[in-house]
Amino acid sequence: MNESYVEIDIDKIIENIQNIKRINPNSMYCAVLKANGYGLGAFKIAEQVEEYIDYIAVARLNEAISLRKAGIKKPILVLGAVYFKDVSKCIKYDIDIPIIDLEYAKKINDSIDEKVNVHLALDTGMGRIGFRDYEEDKIRELKNLENINVISAFTHFSTADEADTSYTEMQNDKFIKIINDINNAFNLEFVHIANSAAAIKHNINRDMIRVGISTYGIYPSDLLKEENNVELKQCFSFKSRVIFIKEVEAGTSISYGRTFTADKPMKIATLSIGYADGYIRAFSNLGEVLINGKLCKVVGRVCMDQMMVDVTGVDVNIDDEVIIYPDIYKEAAKIDTIPYELMTSINLRVPRIYKKSGKIISIDNYIGEIYED
Ligand SMILES: *Cc1c(COP(=O)(O)O)cnc(C)c1O
Repeated sequence: MNESYVEIDIDKIIENIQNIKRINPNSMYCAVLKANGYGLGAFKIAEQVEEYIDYIAVARLNEAISLRKAGIKKPILVLGAVYFKDVSKCIKYDIDIPIIDLEYAKKINDSIDEKVNVHLALDTGMGRIGFRDYEEDKIRELKNLENINVISAFTHFSTADEADTSYTEMQNDKFIKIINDINNAFNLEFVHIANSAAAIKHNINRDMIRVGISTYGIYPSDLLKEENNVELKQCFSFKSRVIFIKEVEAGTSISYGRTFTADKPMKIATLSIGYADGYIRAFSNLGEVLINGKLCKVVGRVCMDQMMVDVTGVDVNIDDEVIIYPDIYKEAAKIDTIPYELMTSINLRVPRIYKKSGKIISIDNYIGEIYED
């Protein structure tokens, strides 16, 4: 058995997709599988849920190509800019890309001799990539570029997970205006705007929703979790194991730098997980894990490959299972981050174990297998 691992429950992902589709019944579902499926494994998830979705989005071209090479057939959109010299590969592998400005489009147009399918990236307020609303003339110039086949346009929300909806409405209004103004020129097949938050909280969905975090059963923010507009089930659990247990006297210090000293006799367990597995070092003296139903505090600094927790008064044995994020929202907030970062930080050293109908269907060991076949 592996010391630390992530379990991914495919049934829960499918349920989340179905629940989100139910409240967005007229939109195609684009599963956002960037960053290796938010750390959970893009290919395995794509393979298992392909029949429930319409589109896949990733962040990088290599993510898109690896899904294609692995046999994924659904349309794939790369969300970030692809280096113009690599765009011929998008044609070869049938991958859509965003057009982020006119100069970029011209470079791409000149570097290929076939049409590439593109989605216009519109910056309505995210401030990241894309054409601004006063650049409609530049957008229209794309018509003169024979290899740029504009099939869609999209924008991205900056605050759709927050209580104040005014900025989201402003972005949506800008998007509608640009689309109306340019639609005659391009005959867009479809447009898309919503991330998880917009698909769950706002009734803004358009032709396709781009759902990342909530596909995996996580609400985009604490607010959306409280509002509970849709039932989501966290599809993964990050687990580790107790490898060592000791009783310590008052005055015993624990881990690097002696940032923790026992003020009374304590029982301390050492776990086989550290920051190199993706358990961020900022959790030193802050994080909590669950062992046999009891919350146990991280004591001392998180090391690269191990860490210590307080198991005083807890019934615990060597090899007992440890749940690393008993409440991922609460743990993320403790170190001023979000579940997205905790998920995508889980290192590739940690095997991913996939379950369906309660059975293990596969195990991905990126670094190496323990058991030889
Ligand atoms: C990451 C991303 C999404 C998905 O966001 P979630 O909050 O995870 O649903 C959608 N669209 C774009 C452009 C993104 O970069």
